[in-house]
Amino acid sequence: MQQAFLKAPFQVEIRETQLRPLQADEVLLDIKACGVCGSDVNAAWTSKEFHPFGHELSGVVEAVGAHVTQVSMGDRVAMESSSYCGNCPACRNGHPELCSDKYVPPYEGFAEKIIVNARALVPIRSLSFAEAAVIEPFGVAMDLVEVADIRLGDHVVVYGAGPIALLAVRLARLRGAGRITVLAHAHSEKRIELAYFYGADQVLLTDQISVRETLKNVQVDRILVTTPPSTIPEAVDIASFGTVLSVIGIAKSAEESKVALDINQMHFNRLQLRFSHATPALFFPLCIDLIEKGLVDVRPLITHQYPLEEMQQAMDTVRNDKKTAGKVLMVRGIN
Ligand SMILES: [Zn+2]
Ligand SMILES: [Zn+2]
Repeated sequence: MQQAFLKAPFQVEIRETQLRPLQADEVLLDIKACGVCGSDVNAAWTSKEFHPFGHELSGVVEAVGAHVTQVSMGDRVAMESSSYCGNCPACRNGHPELCSDKYVPPYEGFAEKIIVNARALVPIRSLSFAEAAVIEPFGVAMDLVEVADIRLGDHVVVYGAGPIALLAVRLARLRGAGRITVLAHAHSEKRIELAYFYGADQVLLTDQISVRETLKNVQVDRILVTTPPSTIPEAVDIASFGTVLSVIGIAKSAEESKVALDINQMHFNRLQLRFSHATPALFFPLCIDLIEKGLVDVRPLITHQYPLEEMQQAMDTVRNDKKTAGKVLMVRGIN
């Protein structure tokens, strides 16, 4: 089968690879859609060796191992990017998010087929495969918003306007935020338009104004950070008394990961700096519900779709097309 491999800088190779035989608890999926994640972009900048990639995928069950009971042939499913075990002390104590024995499927979604353990698969009901490929980042946004514990009437400031930030804007709106401010770069024209579509009251252009100056005397209740760690000190500066900051931005390097924070300022302002980490992946059924009920429309987020053979173009779009790129997908066949 055909499978895409990636290495820095943004080099994609499509190779012919062989599938191994299925084990008893495994499923062979025919992949129908797979999204390019921010972590794939990081890998495209840093990875020294070619490696398979892609973990935001949906597809059809093509074959099942002898012991698989959860899904059967022909089922339409999405893949959790990691699954809790249900059996370790944390899981049994009601904290699957702290699971110590997670199953992580292979991140090899930019391919024709994939073999995964059946426990990673969730039926997608009436969703299209393209919509289903957005469930994984949607779950990440859900975790970010849950960690922030947004309350009725809150002024929520969102750093960034990528797919996770945009879905978080919609979720903040659904949770009753009173005002939502998105901080985005002016070149992200499509993303700014989408920020308003998903419920932002204002978008501040970070390259044209001083965020510190603009928000310094404004009550800010919750801050969602989806941008690199270097933005956290500024987020601390614009926080009000008692603000909760929920952070998900990942650093590309050990250097970029280090930031200096004013601890006295955080202490005397009673700030709470919290980290979201959607591993294991939770909330897939809830995300599917919200999409199915029309409460969250993920379709406008999907701005580009490419066949597997054009993964190089897909990655080039993510890299170069700041103006129009939202979520970029690989799709196979009818979606
Ligand atoms: Zn991802
Ligand atoms: Zn567990």
